[in-house]
Amino acid sequence: MHLRCFVCQFVTRHLRHSKAGLLRNLHYERHARNLSCFSQRTCSVTVCPTTIKSQCKSIFVAKANYSTNIKGKGRDISHVPDIKEFLSASNDATNKQLHDSTVEPIPYLEKATYSKPPNGKTVYFETYGCQMNVNDAEYAWAILKEDGYKRIDNLEKADVILLVTCSIREKAEDRIWKRLTVLKEKKLSGYPKIGILGCMAERLKKEIVEKEKAVDIVAGPDAYRDLPRLLEQATNESQTAINVMLSVDETYADIMPVRFDEKTKTAFVSIMRGCDNMCSYCIVPFTRGRERSRPVESIVDEIRKLSNMGIKQVNLLGQNVNSYRDMSSVEVGMPNLNAEPMSQGFKTIYKPKLGGLRFADLLDRVSSVDPEMRIRFISPHPKDFPDEVLEIISERTNICKQIHLPAQSGSSRILEQMRRGHTREDYLNLVERIRSYIPDVSLSTDMITGFCGETEEDHEDSISLMRLVKYNYAFLFKYSMRKKTHAYHKMNDDVPEKVKVQRLQEIMKVYYELLEQTQRSLVGEVQLALVEKV
Ligand code: SAM
Ligand code: SF4
Repeated sequence: MHLRCFVCQFVTRHLRHSKAGLLRNLHYERHARNLSCFSQRTCSVTVCPTTIKSQCKSIFVAKANYSTNIKGKGRDISHVPDIKEFLSASNDATNKQLHDSTVEPIPYLEKATYSKPPNGKTVYFETYGCQMNVNDAEYAWAILKEDGYKRIDNLEKADVILLVTCSIREKAEDRIWKRLTVLKEKKLSGYPKIGILGCMAERLKKEIVEKEKAVDIVAGPDAYRDLPRLLEQATNESQTAINVMLSVDETYADIMPVRFDEKTKTAFVSIMRGCDNMCSYCIVPFTRGRERSRPVESIVDEIRKLSNMGIKQVNLLGQNVNSYRDMSSVEVGMPNLNAEPMSQGFKTIYKPKLGGLRFADLLDRVSSVDPEMRIRFISPHPKDFPDEVLEIISERTNICKQIHLPAQSGSSRILEQMRRGHTREDYLNLVERIRSYIPDVSLSTDMITGFCGETEEDHEDSISLMRLVKYNYAFLFKYSMRKKTHAYHKMNDDVPEKVKVQRLQEIMKVYYELLEQTQRSLVGEVQLALVEKV
């Protein structure tokens, strides 16, 4: 049910002329985190008392900013009511709205008659890319299920085909373009409806609509709640329905994702979204937006439910999972100033963030839900491993002694170009510190070969880092220049393709050599294993 919350009404009625400047103020006003309705055409009613409290305070800020912004510009805002007046005046109406969706109809949400999908409402999902995308697909499925859709595994019988896409490298996007050409052939008399969801939707909305006319829905990573409306719009108006707005606060915290594989004993739990790091090669901050964390309580609640369902392993997910920071319980203007340090020697390109509940607090809470449930997390950034995090991992038997520690390069010069915020030495010190807390830790990494300006010497540094750390697992990539990134604007993609491939092969060879040695050293050991499938 889509309703308009009172904050949204206030803004549309009284701050209508407030142009981008003010809205941006609101977006980045720290305590306006819950105002997703500002950034989306539809809005969901938020009735949580803390949310309302922070919304009210934000509106005060909004009004103050608004007054300041227009001072001297000849506009009269004397008619704009105070937020208290507004709230008391709209209290009754708001309460009524909570029970009556017909109040103040919103044209683009109105139901209309439309041609029925041939198979009733059936949806088929195809997911590309990382675990985050699999989890996103499960959120999208939960939302559509609630709206009466049935998920099917037979693409031929689907009324709706949704591709959950990835933009991280060019190769990932190429696969989806090819897939779209095939799917286009399947369209007979308007069905199936084809939708592009996720990172590629956000990045390539224009190209997708213009180039692939077969696409009916384009929904960015923060627009899944809007899918029922988008599908209806695509059906009614036979035009591409698009929502690629990025939100500063959407975490889907109130939605329990519906797992595709109901038999598996492992579940993914998204704890944060977005990334503020701006590594120079990476498209993620542009496709997935600003960093935001889900409130601890909603995560613990989901994990409790999963435990009751018999799930034995939970993988906490986030683009930058250990940057987790739940600010939902922090009072406006009163951040907890006990800022935890980052990993020693590391820095960020953004202003250090203060307060809130951190990743160590979250690990403490989630690992206490069910001592029999294994906890993992992916994908962390090396900068966010203060001692508290290492202590709790070493203490709790149900937190897996496995840490993904993406290095990206073994050369300090390239790391600086990549804007990773650390040197090779800082990274190696961190490895040492992790091993001092968790001696039997298993480490994995991400490595990129052939980044802009990478010399043979830099490449040798990456290989020597692999040899020094001896990873148990590695994701190895050849650099792929992405539009919008800092590297795209400021650097030269000057390592020839042939050299990138050759370096990738060399680094893979070393990795497999070392992996064999590591695995041989485990022969004869007794390990606790989770059997996922027989
Ligand atoms: N947030 C994690 C971190 O910073 O360590 C990594 C998440 S990122 C989504 C996954 C991996 O994709 C990165 O660690 C990086 O190795 C790789 N990657 C990102 N952009 C890339 C690009 N333009 N070309 C090649 N690999 C890339
Ligand atoms: Fe991309 Fe990870 Fe860097 Fe964020 S921290 S910009 S997700 S590589």
